[in-house]
Amino acid sequence: MISVYIFKGREERVTSFGFEDQTLSPCLVLVLVLVSFQKKKKDDDDDGKEEEEEMVLKAALKSLFRALGNAARRAIPFVSSDDDDAKIIDGKQIAADIRAEIKGEVERLKAKKGKVPGLAVVIVGERKDSQTYVRMKRKACDEVGIHSFHSELPETISEKELIDVVKGYNDNPDCHGILVQLPLPKHIDEEKVLGVISLEKDVDGFHPLNIGMLAMKGHEPLFMPCTPKGSIVLLERSGVELKGKNAVVVGRSNIVGMPASMMLNKKDCTVTVVHSRTKNPKEICRRADIVIAAAGSAKMIKGDWIKKGAAVIDVGTNSVEDKSKKSGYALVGDVDFNEAKKRASFITPVPGGVGPMTIAMLLQNCLDGGKRAIEGTK
Ligand code: NAP
Repeated sequence: MISVYIFKGREERVTSFGFEDQTLSPCLVLVLVLVSFQKKKKDDDDDGKEEEEEMVLKAALKSLFRALGNAARRAIPFVSSDDDDAKIIDGKQIAADIRAEIKGEVERLKAKKGKVPGLAVVIVGERKDSQTYVRMKRKACDEVGIHSFHSELPETISEKELIDVVKGYNDNPDCHGILVQLPLPKHIDEEKVLGVISLEKDVDGFHPLNIGMLAMKGHEPLFMPCTPKGSIVLLERSGVELKGKNAVVVGRSNIVGMPASMMLNKKDCTVTVVHSRTKNPKEICRRADIVIAAAGSAKMIKGDWIKKGAAVIDVGTNSVEDKSKKSGYALVGDVDFNEAKKRASFITPVPGGVGPMTIAMLLQNCLDGGKRAIEGTK
């Protein structure tokens, strides 16, 4: 006989044919109640039925139960199971969805106002990695219909000349975002150059006033730094509840860790920051419902650092030797993925997690800046 117990308000616990208890969604319980009802009716009608028939029915119900459990785990965030791996957050797909939404918004702006957002990308020198990033950013702009301006400047440019280029974009009404690709040559003061970018066009979100507004209660920055913003969006789009959760951010850099901790605080998480001088980082991480790892240290966060059911966002991008790869190296995160996925409920892979979100957030910031300038939105 199937027994169905319902308690704890929104959570239902089902016991069925000696299965391990499972926490299931209300719709699943409804199906099982119906099955139970039908079986009871059958038992009543044909009392003393052959044992064999009952075995067949039990087997059918077992299969149904398993299939429904799997479907529920796929569909319902935070449906946990002792023996199941974490749900892998697909950053590539989420970033692609966001780019498609941005493209739609850009087309709407163009149709309504005859204007599109514009992004200026400034690169100094010939560093191959910087050139690759800049090329990717331009390509992403083209894909969503954002107009991109570029300034490719020689390594020998003076600080004043560079500042004049930035000021030119500040004054250009068709440009709504300015990105100066870092690092800059040693003879140029990066802080000084970044400080010249108009607050309204600071799509990287690094301007001290934007960071200050992120930190202050009752204030909202015009832009937030792209990588930590992308990390929070991954959590939100995966259905991870943030309010009231214990969050740990590993790393406190100006680019990732520090803004990530402030963003989580703004989302009503209780935030602890772990850095290179923190004592007992493992114990602190083990208490976290949410972990954002941004230390730049390959696989430092092991499976036993992760609380069962935690959501883990791995920002780390570390290149390690891997002879099995043609290139001779592989990219790994700060989290030991294979260990952590056995304990987490959600986890991002590296690559394919946070990485694709950074450019998507840059485009989003540029769209937001464009909308503010073109439509006068807040
Ligand atoms: P960073 O400037 O080097 O900062 C690293 C932070 O981690 C520092 O605050 C440092 O603490 C802390 N830290 C280092 N080792 C630690 C340890 N063993 N235990 C605890 N804390 C430790 O690096 P970042 O720019 O923030 O980048 C972090 C990682 O994210 C890197 O792997 C980087 O490649 C990656 N990243 C990825 C993206 C992306 O788009 N996917 C973007 C940016 C960065 P102290 O402050 O005490 O030194």
